[in-house]
Amino acid sequence: MRNALTFEWVLEPQGLTHARTLYLDGGRIDSIEDAGDRPRDGFLALPGMANAHSHVFQRALRGAADSGGLDSFWSWRETMYRLAAALTPEDLHLVASSAFAEMLEAGYTSVGEFHYLHHLPDGSRSPAMAEALIAAATDSGIRLRLLPVYYRHGGFGRPASPAQSRFVHRDLADFERTVEPVAAACAGLAPHSLRAVTPDEIAAVVALADRMFGPQAPLHIHVSEQAAEVRDCVALHGRPPILLLDERVGLGSRWNLVHATHAGRLELDCMLAGDAIVVLCPLTEGQLGDGWFPADEFLARGGRIAIGSDSNVRIDVLEEMRFLEFSQRARLERRNVLTGPAGTGARIWSELARAGAASLGLVGGELAPGQVADVVVVPESATLAGLPVTAALDALLVAAGRGEPFDVYVDGELRVRRGRALATSTRERVGALLSRLWRSP
Ligand SMILES: [Zn+2]
Repeated sequence: MRNALTFEWVLEPQGLTHARTLYLDGGRIDSIEDAGDRPRDGFLALPGMANAHSHVFQRALRGAADSGGLDSFWSWRETMYRLAAALTPEDLHLVASSAFAEMLEAGYTSVGEFHYLHHLPDGSRSPAMAEALIAAATDSGIRLRLLPVYYRHGGFGRPASPAQSRFVHRDLADFERTVEPVAAACAGLAPHSLRAVTPDEIAAVVALADRMFGPQAPLHIHVSEQAAEVRDCVALHGRPPILLLDERVGLGSRWNLVHATHAGRLELDCMLAGDAIVVLCPLTEGQLGDGWFPADEFLARGGRIAIGSDSNVRIDVLEEMRFLEFSQRARLERRNVLTGPAGTGARIWSELARAGAASLGLVGGELAPGQVADVVVVPESATLAGLPVTAALDALLVAAGRGEPFDVYVDGELRVRRGRALATSTRERVGALLSRLWRSP
């Protein structure tokens, strides 16, 4: 007999549908049919969300840099470097296991780990850090799509500092030797940023990705996050970073531009023309004081937006969505900015899930035949009590968060039941690790 999951409501590409059964085959959706009176497995089924941008080790930085006077991204980064210098593969496994479980509970079914903490604390090359991430993903049950990061310089035209030594490779051949042992877990490659990799080096990373993973493999890069980065890029190259990238490597649909906060008009045009995905990380961008991307215009013109939990200061799909929508409302002094025919919550969830899956090279992001059977099941909780189902996703958008007791399936396998990850919890041991890290000088 085929595996089947039946729900009262399903968010399908055409909108909310009533009483539907998903028939599964080997972790994929085979067909979706009317359920009749089959017993229900839950109330409202949504496509699993991809977390398109995570540095999972930064989960250990919560509360470590949010006091002490006016601060900036650049001083926050110094705190992050001190943490990065201290973490062993065992520490990373512990932090990642706990954070991946939190991601699942929040509704993320895949994670794109933008992985640059490559080397051991003594600077030696080893696959142990990447293997710690892979083991943590296996333990928690989330789908990991590793994005190994090529990191070469300390800033535009500046050598890397000793604080960046765990991230940096001597050359591309050295980087390839790091990626090779974990290639099976990778979605594609990620030149870190135009600060850390020159345009010529980025072109070489693209060629390496073609050779290792094929010409469609996703490429991710941090870009235009900070105004100072844009100024430095213009000073050195005579043009802002997204235009420079487009000119040098061509921004096609395999490109995923993380942040793109300060994209100018011509840069929006070239991302839209190439169908590049913009990966927004609203909670992190807010916490770091980056600024706001014009998501309203980008979506209205047919652009694709994915989300990432980035620094993992807070892991919460609904709160990322809320911050995305509310930041646009505050920026424009208007309401319901990112809304669509099925409502604001349904539109934002659908757009982010679809682009997120594409950003990691997955056939997923929609509940439809042929797609991976990643499902987030929303119960009829107190948040939704008494509402018509058409308002359910809007209620989640404005009022809900990690407290919602979701069920979550990855590849058709139940990973979270009523809000709790089924994998063995490492959360208490993470507490011991954090107290050790906080005590260290
Ligand atoms: Zn990042």
